[in-house]
This record gives sequence, structure tokens and C-alpha cells, in this order.
Amino acid sequence: MKNKTLIYGPMFAGKSDKLLSLFFNFQASGKKAIIFKPKLDTRSNQVISRTGVQSKAIDVETLEDIIDFIKNHYDKIEGIFIDETQFLKIKPDNLDSFFSFLDERKITLYVALLNKDYLGNNFDNFDLLKPYFDWEIILSAICHYCGKLAFKTIKMHDNKRVYDKKEIIEIEGSDLKTKYLPVCEKHFNKT
Ligand SMILES: [Zn+2]
Repeated sequence: MKNKTLIYGPMFAGKSDKLLSLFFNFQASGKKAIIFKPKLDTRSNQVISRTGVQSKAIDVETLEDIIDFIKNHYDKIEGIFIDETQFLKIKPDNLDSFFSFLDERKITLYVALLNKDYLGNNFDNFDLLKPYFDWEIILSAICHYCGKLAFKTIKMHDNKRVYDKKEIIEIEGSDLKTKYLPVCEKHFNKT
């Protein structure tokens, strides 16, 4: 079934915005859908995009949590939307059964995630999930330095670039001295 779409890009690319607009369109067509997001993201139980669009989301830790929730609450759910999926705890062995579950119930899936960390490496979840998807929406931000399309993110602390791998899972905005910037390829390699 060709009903799985992966939405990815750097930070500030509008991934949540895209996910939410697809979610609202999906519902507007009379279909039942639900949004999930990782529990790790403690900002709120909402998915809130940078443009202010928001919707309630169910907090989950794993793909199994999603299956359990659907079994318990939504017998006829037709669409699942997952935001910030890079933070979901995914066991590779459970992927086949998750996607079989969706196929059996003809559930359409939209997943938004950050594909690369601030060192330019793919998030494990991106590599694990990508083969299961039929469609991709690749979003870009604008380079902080030159205004060209940005497909990567860098991390700054006290205005210096961060290269260490510690605290790679850190919720944005939790530390005011730390910020992330979208950059083009040239400025990713240069700054
Ligand atoms: Zn640039």
C-alpha cells in the first residue's frame, strides 16, 4: 500500500507545520486521524509549529505504544501522524510488525523527523525508517549566514560551534546559551 510519507529536513524547515497542515487536510476529508509525539519532548502535549498552528498530540515512547493506543482507543483510525520522530525509541526488530499492523488496517502514515544531527550524521531512526516509506517530502530551511537553502543544522553555545557528541538529545530552548542554526553545505563545512 503506497500510503506512507516521510517528511524530513533540518531544524527550522517547517516540518511540524507541514505535518499539521497534512493532518488538518486529512481530517477535512472526513477521515479519522491522530497525532503522536515522543514523550521525551516535554514542551507540552501539543504539536506546535513555528507559525503557531497547533494540535493535541498523544505522548508515546515506542512504536509499540502507538499500536497499543490504537488498539485501545481507536478501532477505525485511518491516519497516523508522528512528529519529532527522531526521538522515538525504535527497536529495529519491531519495525516489520509495526508496518504490518498499519497495512492490515489500511492506516495511512505521515512521519516528520529531523534527519541529521548537528554533526551532520543521520539519526538512527531516519536510516531505520526510510526504507519503509513510499513518498518523501524533503524540506529545507534558509542558511543563517548566506540565505541559500539549508539542509543541515549546527549547534552553537555562547556563540561558538559545538562539535562534541554529548547531550545530542537536547530539547531546543531548554538552555538559552545554546542555539541551533540552519546552514547550507558550504557554511556547514566552513563555520
Ligand atoms: Zn550558507
